[in-house]
Amino acid sequence: MTQRITAAKLYDYTQCPHRVWRDVYGPQDEKITETNPFVKLLWERGIAHEEKIVAQLGEFTDITPGTLAERAKQTIQAMRTGASLIYQGVLQLEDMLGIPDLLERRPDGSYIPVDIKSGMGFEGINAEEGLRGRPKKHYAVQLALYVDLLQHLGFANDRLAKVIDIHSNEFEYDLKTPLGQKDTRPLWDYYQEVKKDVALLLRNQTQNKPALIGICKLCHWYVSCKKWVNESDDLTKIFYLGRQKRDRIAADLGIETITDILAIDIQDVMRAKAGNKQFLYGVGEKTLAQILRRAKVISQTKKPVIYETIKFPKVRYELFFDIEDDPTQEFVYMHGIYVKSPDGETYQHFTATQLTAGAEKKAWQDFWHFIDSLPQNDYAVYYYSHHEKTTYRRMQKLYPDVISVEELEAFFASSNVIDLYEVVKQSTDWPVSSYSLKDLAQYLGFKWQDETPSGAMSIQWFNQFIENNDPQILIRLLTYNEDDCKATMVLKEGIEKLSSTGHL
Ligand code: SF4
Repeated sequence: MTQRITAAKLYDYTQCPHRVWRDVYGPQDEKITETNPFVKLLWERGIAHEEKIVAQLGEFTDITPGTLAERAKQTIQAMRTGASLIYQGVLQLEDMLGIPDLLERRPDGSYIPVDIKSGMGFEGINAEEGLRGRPKKHYAVQLALYVDLLQHLGFANDRLAKVIDIHSNEFEYDLKTPLGQKDTRPLWDYYQEVKKDVALLLRNQTQNKPALIGICKLCHWYVSCKKWVNESDDLTKIFYLGRQKRDRIAADLGIETITDILAIDIQDVMRAKAGNKQFLYGVGEKTLAQILRRAKVISQTKKPVIYETIKFPKVRYELFFDIEDDPTQEFVYMHGIYVKSPDGETYQHFTATQLTAGAEKKAWQDFWHFIDSLPQNDYAVYYYSHHEKTTYRRMQKLYPDVISVEELEAFFASSNVIDLYEVVKQSTDWPVSSYSLKDLAQYLGFKWQDETPSGAMSIQWFNQFIENNDPQILIRLLTYNEDDCKATMVLKEGIEKLSSTGHL
């Protein structure tokens, strides 16, 4: 069967180029058939948002019913007769198929595609700093496919499209604009390159390899690709070594496995690199040394290592802190703290049980009241990764009367408030591919009580709880958050032991 180039395939390519090939030619029996609940939640939210926007459109020509061929015919007919707005029109030509949410007629009789998206229309928007943002590449390639089809069918005379975003704001996508400041290729050229690659992959005329990256955990090929990476001794098994560096190392050094990279001499490589800017572009001496250290820990030492002595604050109150939030709605629903003190260990949580700004603010306020109740200079706070800090900075702008900028910055700048991820990255290495809190705590023997613990599931449970108010779901959510906090404690104690004894 001919595989057609669709907007979904172009989108997939921007997320992971291998997925386009694997979806068609990969071992189908290894594919996870259950849809990830978080991915499902995003779909449902996308559909609900589209329905809301469509309900406000006024009059339009609906091309939803019928087979693809019938709908394609009706779409052409509707454009020929000058329909002002067409919903779910079908555009097809040769190996390309596109179904834009809307086709909008312009005063000169041509059409532009409009997509309804449940995210922000541009990336990098920051109204306070006067940043208008720039087009998202993954939106642009989809819109460009529709424009391409419209041009071939004779209904477009400009490379223009539009996005209606989560806040119902309209963003014009001028596909002639450059990708960014560094990469000045027009979006249209980027689309052409992506389309060409996708076409070759769909015809199996080129193949590419999996690479373990952050988004893999949400992909239906995760188990299959992970197996491939392990069996192939692939370099992406090394933490922080992604597809780009892996491919660059393979192209310039001819090295594809962890075993082989261990045999290189860094100084020899640096001599080859001197005077040739393109050679191992983006992989300097420091990065190479880090890759070798991690490769050694994974395949030879097979134990965690620590490169310097770590001294944590000696205080009576140790707080292990983790928030739960739904980034798709920019809503923080839980602030959890596991407290270890001379009085024992307790779990505290500050939770918004309603999806309202008032509930979000109150939970955050309660969190700070609790922090203020602790003896000054006699507590330390541990968290994992910059997410808590970034989220709190955003919340401070929303609720400036809860805490001032200065107070918030002073809190995170305190030497008693410690991001353990920074400690892990800078001072340790572990014989695992991912340095996520889950992976490291599990390596240390910690077990989550829930069978399917993940931040994505937490978001799904919260949304379920908001829908049906089921106390059992809230308990599941709290148990998960408490375990995340405890896992942070287990990791802190693991690093401490590693630092004092050199082993675990
Ligand atoms: S698991 Fe990762 S590498 Fe494999 S197809 Fe999915 S995103 Fe790509």
